[in-house]
Amino acid sequence: MTKQIDLIQHLKRNFGFDSFKGNQEEIIRNVLHGNDTFVLMPTGGGKSLCYQLPALMMEGTAIVISPLIALMKNQVDAMRNFGEDDGVAHFLNSSLTKAAIAQVKEDVTSGRTKLLYVAPESLTKEENILFLQSVKISFYAVDEAHCISEWGHDFRPEYRRIRPIINEIGEAPIIALTATATPKVQHDIQKTLGIQEAHVFKSSFNRPNLYYEIRPKVDASKEIIKMLKENPGKSCIIYCLSRKKVEELAELLVVNGIKALAYHAGMDAATRAANQDKFLYEEVDVIVATIAFGMGIDKPDVRIVIHYDMPKSLEGYYQETGRAGRDGGEGRCIAFYSYKDIQKLEKFMQGKPVAEQEIGKQLLIETVAYAETSLCRRKLLLHYFGEQYTEDSCDSCDNCLHPKEQFEGMEAITTLIK
Ligand code: ADP
Ligand code: MG
Repeated sequence: MTKQIDLIQHLKRNFGFDSFKGNQEEIIRNVLHGNDTFVLMPTGGGKSLCYQLPALMMEGTAIVISPLIALMKNQVDAMRNFGEDDGVAHFLNSSLTKAAIAQVKEDVTSGRTKLLYVAPESLTKEENILFLQSVKISFYAVDEAHCISEWGHDFRPEYRRIRPIINEIGEAPIIALTATATPKVQHDIQKTLGIQEAHVFKSSFNRPNLYYEIRPKVDASKEIIKMLKENPGKSCIIYCLSRKKVEELAELLVVNGIKALAYHAGMDAATRAANQDKFLYEEVDVIVATIAFGMGIDKPDVRIVIHYDMPKSLEGYYQETGRAGRDGGEGRCIAFYSYKDIQKLEKFMQGKPVAEQEIGKQLLIETVAYAETSLCRRKLLLHYFGEQYTEDSCDSCDNCLHPKEQFEGMEAITTLIK
């Protein structure tokens, strides 16, 4: 065996951290070896470092494919803050001027740039492909890799073109990263990127500090008001499916003396940003939102996540409840379930392409099974992510704490399957 490089030294020097989180170190060693790598790690686990550190250490430039311009900009700014050289990280996307693009290309060509973030739309542009053919590429990192899969919660068709474009630009190892861990999505990603032989690094998706509960949706608004009044000052996110419900519920809470604001994609950008900030800086305790809220939000002390409506998939449910208790402290996840809501969701799907409907239906069936089960919710949720939970009781879900009869029976599932 050759002597192992002291990665901690590199970590400290480049990022100021004293130790690695989870299995970051093994992942980084694997990337440094030039292997294809597949990383499944929950949000907040520290995926970015798994490609940032090796990119700094390896010869050439790492191409990072990332879906959101805002996330890209944050990451590049963060990288620049750590280092001395502004040219160490750049992004290439539709927001740049011609002059800025010229600067990026100059820095990349000179070898200064170790990380080049590219949106998939920009990657498909012929001029960029031609440019990248002239670049020495250390590896490709595909962040938010679930965007490749129709089974993921954020499917983006451009992501499916990544592999053919890599073939055009020039092959190099690929590291794919995601927090969307269902076995179907994983299979899809590896197949589409052509990295079936990749080394797979999978962290546990269990969140021991989260409590899961499903309540029959009878008098949800009243129960929510009661719960919030019993927990004054605690940060809470309430998810609703429709913008209309978001506004109604936020108003109702305010009328009842609760400091709450609304958030959905139909509001103008300034109001949305202001409401988000008021929640982050604790001028209000409660944000009532559609799923538009939360991408990239890192408020560590959210104590309660309520689903006024059941989400369209367990994947979404896991991501949204996952915003509770990021700091490791208490996190209560309460969802209100009624089979009528599921039927509504099913109705919304009509008119969509058949294949999409089939996927949507399957995802709904899994959601119903979760809502109606009398088994441990944690066990079911983790099973959904391909993970076995072997404890008899998790002591932190309604079914483990208060075993009960199923409240709507299995009829519902049977109708859906038909
Ligand atoms: P993910 O992409 O998995 O959601 P990020 O890469 O955004 O996670 O990292 C989440 C947070 O963890 C960031 O604030 C990052 O700076 C921090 N972090 C990452 N690695 C370490 C580490 N080894 N030590 C301390 N903090 C870390
Ligand atoms: Mg990330």
